Amino acid sequence: MSTTASLESRVRVPLFGVAIDSVSFEQAVAQVHRWIAENDHQCRYVVTPNVDHIVMLQHDEALCAAYADASLVIADGWPVVTASRLLGRPLPERVAGSDLVPALFDTADRHRPLRVFLLGAAPGVARTAARNIESRWGAVEVVGEYSPPLGFEHDEGENEKILRQLQVHRPDLLVLGLGAPKQEKWVHRFHSQIPANAAVCAGATIDFLAGHKTRAPRWIQKFRLEWLHRVLSEPRRLARRYARDAWVFPRLLLRELVRSMAKR
Ligand code: UDP
Repeated sequence: MSTTASLESRVRVPLFGVAIDSVSFEQAVAQVHRWIAENDHQCRYVVTPNVDHIVMLQHDEALCAAYADASLVIADGWPVVTASRLLGRPLPERVAGSDLVPALFDTADRHRPLRVFLLGAAPGVARTAARNIESRWGAVEVVGEYSPPLGFEHDEGENEKILRQLQVHRPDLLVLGLGAPKQEKWVHRFHSQIPANAAVCAGATIDFLAGHKTRAPRWIQKFRLEWLHRVLSEPRRLARRYARDAWVFPRLLLRELVRSMAKR
């Protein structure tokens, strides 16, 4: 891993009330690998703000608290990066959680397999993802996976069951695919009891790794239209969310633009 990817001179950019790390993709990958190499089982976690998170963060205090304690906050979404540039506080690039997780697998050390636990997705999906990961990445060992039932977060028995599994396996990396804001709130509530070296709140990444959902083709991502591909692939579930975000986010951006012009 390149030493130029160090985060020592780290900068956090304030945007829409959220402090986002000004890091490149390569720096984010290197930082998570450093936590893993430290092997202190402190469970530093990564959150990945996109437009939907920014909208929720305006009124969800528990999500704000989860963000405040995150060790790495990376901009997952071109609208967030574009807004940062319009506001004169440019973030270097988009660092999507769904790209970060496979990149961590790609860069795992063959001499010290990366021990991963997958938490989330529909029943059976994490198991399929585990099989796919192990057949594709020789340096990754999926030490455990669990797709908890809906509403599990309110069931202390379920929470304890997950923590017990994590304590048994002590993974290097916990991939949380519980959707936002559940995954951020869950890891925030329990991170002091999670003996992983790092955790990534990664949305639908487990579905993608299982082949249960497909990412937008590269050319669509290049045109920054991955959001459109997602809405079209799950219109019932996502149309309302994206419609709300499309209404609220431009207003937030306008408010922030006016504020920053008033300061100049
Ligand atoms: N999910 C889950 N448990 C829940 C709610 C959701 O495991 O209680 C999973 C769901 O099956 C899917 C992922 O969380 O795999 C949510 O993906 P989504 O696209 O909503 O993630 P987002 O883009 O919101 O982060």
